[in-house]
Amino acid sequence: MISQQTIQQIISRIDIVEIVGSFVKLKKRGANYLGLCPFHHEKTPSFTVSPSKEIYKCFGCGKSGNAIGFLMDHEKYSYVESLLWLARKYNVEVEQTVSSPEIKQQQQIADSLYIVNNFAQKYFSQILENSEEGRSVGLSYFRERGFQDDTISRFQLGYCPEGWDGFTKAALDAGHKLEFLLKTGLSVMRNEMPVDNYRGRVIFPVHNHTGKIIGFGARILKTTDKTPKYINTPENELYTKSKILYGTFYARHAIDRLDECLLVEGYTDVISLHQAGIENTVASGGTSLTVDQLRLIKKFTGNLTILYDGDDAGVKAALRGLDLALEEGLNVRLALIPDNEDPDSYVRKLGPAAFLDFIHRNKKDFILFKLQVSLKESGNDIHKKSLLVNEIAETIARINKAEDFTRQQDYIKQCSQLLNIDEQGMTNLVNKYIREKLQKEERFSIREPAPREEEGTDTENSPLDENAFLFNTDLKQEEGLVRVLLEHGHKDWDGEKKVAQYIFDSPIDLELLHNETVIRIITCYRELFLQGENPDSRTFVYHADQAISQLSIQVLEFPFELSTNWKKKYELDVPDKEELYREDVQSVLNFLMLAKIKKLIAENQQEWDQAGTPEDQLSFIQIHSKLKDMERKLTSQLGTVILK
Ligand code: ZN
Repeated sequence: MISQQTIQQIISRIDIVEIVGSFVKLKKRGANYLGLCPFHHEKTPSFTVSPSKEIYKCFGCGKSGNAIGFLMDHEKYSYVESLLWLARKYNVEVEQTVSSPEIKQQQQIADSLYIVNNFAQKYFSQILENSEEGRSVGLSYFRERGFQDDTISRFQLGYCPEGWDGFTKAALDAGHKLEFLLKTGLSVMRNEMPVDNYRGRVIFPVHNHTGKIIGFGARILKTTDKTPKYINTPENELYTKSKILYGTFYARHAIDRLDECLLVEGYTDVISLHQAGIENTVASGGTSLTVDQLRLIKKFTGNLTILYDGDDAGVKAALRGLDLALEEGLNVRLALIPDNEDPDSYVRKLGPAAFLDFIHRNKKDFILFKLQVSLKESGNDIHKKSLLVNEIAETIARINKAEDFTRQQDYIKQCSQLLNIDEQGMTNLVNKYIREKLQKEERFSIREPAPREEEGTDTENSPLDENAFLFNTDLKQEEGLVRVLLEHGHKDWDGEKKVAQYIFDSPIDLELLHNETVIRIITCYRELFLQGENPDSRTFVYHADQAISQLSIQVLEFPFELSTNWKKKYELDVPDKEELYREDVQSVLNFLMLAKIKKLIAENQQEWDQAGTPEDQLSFIQIHSKLKDMERKLTSQLGTVILK
């Protein structure tokens, strides 16, 4: 956990123009900076960064956020990763807070699992090398596969003997707890007795990218129908299947150096290719790639080449999952290994040089590959072809990184040629899918808290209905209060007090607000303000409460600025928003006061209905007409101010 103090230090140094500017080319335009949006495709810039408000907004696709949000969106960093990136950039020393007891306990479990895994690896390797059974069964299997001794020891391969509990007993004797033996999946309970889970199997330890053993793959040697070919470690504190790529530890330097990652299916493919000197190879374990696996690859390289040995159906299924890789900004190519071979057997057949040459000559760009496969299938069927056009446009739309726009353009060009359709039409279609995707993401990320229930009132036919209606349809006005506070709160109101003070002095009633986040922001602003601090938009744009941060970014506006030349040329005296801020504040306050008066009128009406004596009735009538008077005044003011 990064300490709150460090976070504050980082936030205070952020310069959003500098951060966004290291990924997007920005030009100064008035008070803001403008560039081509990295989140949707555009030719004229509508992506705007405000250094004073510390936010960015795109007027094309509607994306908005602060610098941390930008790193999360653009670089796919987590919140913590973004902070660490910023800390490095601004030379902020990161102070870690003491972990909670739960986290401490989890770390202790993880440490214990590492120790058990290490013990197991040594045990299995020792059996493989030194025991009669290990040598005659396990070692001879690896040798049959062509693995040399140094490869076997490098990958720390092993063997678990046939007996029931040889390993389990040895581990318990060495003082390891049964609890952890079961958690690692090395032992299982049979008839209330712990026994070895990997009996009669060869063992492939699985390392994380720093080289620690996080689990095992165990392959059966006898062919039986009953048991699966491979058993893998169950999910535990160390082992999360969706995050693992086998071989990463051995491959990372080669991937880095060659700027390409080769992906195969299984353990033995990885080991064979490494032995052949093709060390930039990892395995996915046969399932379709997950986002976490793709991000792991992206840490080392942007180029992924997948070696397939499947049949047509398998290849088609695999193609479907690869759109994800485009979203991660990976450049994906495919190479099909010829019939009845897999990378393991094929490299042994051809030798390393010819194998690499084959991959090099045969790897095809994923999108074009997909298009060619589908084109062949759809033939002259118009309906199928139009489906295909849409499918390809959607795939191309997944490429959403700024630096990949030329690539996206290339695809649009090549695919429209292959499909024999108009390029501009294809561009429009791709943009449509980008917009849809972004809108979907926005819907998930910005959630308005539900309006508060009117407790205990019978809303049916009650005069309060009007009020409820007013607010449910006009939550924007509530947000307006946040906006004027953040934008103008620190400015002068009347030479004596600041705008914020004027707002807090006015008879507005937080009870009348429906949006919980609005209420939280206003309460927080007031507290800071009363303590003599000067909160500004940055305080809320970078607030730790995500709802507060999001709403603040959402309500802040970029002023529309007339260029000074234009003003001069036409000698216009157009007041811009900056000069009208007092009216802006007053209009929002009037609206909220109107709501309060409406509520008072309704309450008065209810009491009036129940009033007994004529004297009582009279006083209610007097209150009513006074309130109505105020309402009229406010409404007429609002009419002029709101429509300015
Ligand atoms: Zn955009």
